[in-house]
Amino acid sequence: MRIKTDEYATPAKPPKSSSMSIVRGAAKDCTACHLFKHATQTVFGEGPKTAALMLVGEQPGDYEDVAGEPFVGPAGKIMDRALEETGIDRRQVYVTNAVKHFKWEPRGKRRLHKKPNSREIAACRPWLEAEVRLVRPSLVVAMGATAAQTIFGPSFRVTRERGKILSSKLAPRVMATVHPSSLLRQPDEESRHREYAKFVADLRIAVKAAKAK
Ligand code: SF4
Repeated sequence: MRIKTDEYATPAKPPKSSSMSIVRGAAKDCTACHLFKHATQTVFGEGPKTAALMLVGEQPGDYEDVAGEPFVGPAGKIMDRALEETGIDRRQVYVTNAVKHFKWEPRGKRRLHKKPNSREIAACRPWLEAEVRLVRPSLVVAMGATAAQTIFGPSFRVTRERGKILSSKLAPRVMATVHPSSLLRQPDEESRHREYAKFVADLRIAVKAAKAK
């Protein structure tokens, strides 16, 4: 497929600084791929630099794009509730995304989420690597297929591997689970409850594993 010239993507180049605020500040001006052009702002990760647990989603959504913070929309609220059930406060966790700008397409007046492609994900990966280098979490949790495939490669299947503590080039200990937005897309109340319970069970494994090191 021919790549349109206005849809370029080259790997981002984060500064090698040990200061999170310097790296975060540099990400604000990132133009390594075309996604910055139609987004409001870079949505960098948030949370303590000493966090034992790092949660990685796909990309900011409509709410996050406007607020400039990750996981503040409906999926973020489910994630916060699930974390609380495991006894962890969201503020103890470092939360980020594989891609730092909101990719969307217009649908009437709404901006509909559009999945980032492999070139955009690869372009943004150096920012995720910088976050892992600075936070050095005990465990990284990849939430959803995009985050998991960013870390493990395109053949990785969350349904097959969820809840297992694995190792990767990005971080020595990584666990995959579903993205909390998938819980919002369940067809009925019963499956919503069932999938939410499985998500909480995965997070319990993650919290225990993060504490164990
Ligand atoms: S999506 Fe990532 S690589 Fe692309 S411009 Fe934004 S921060 Fe840079």
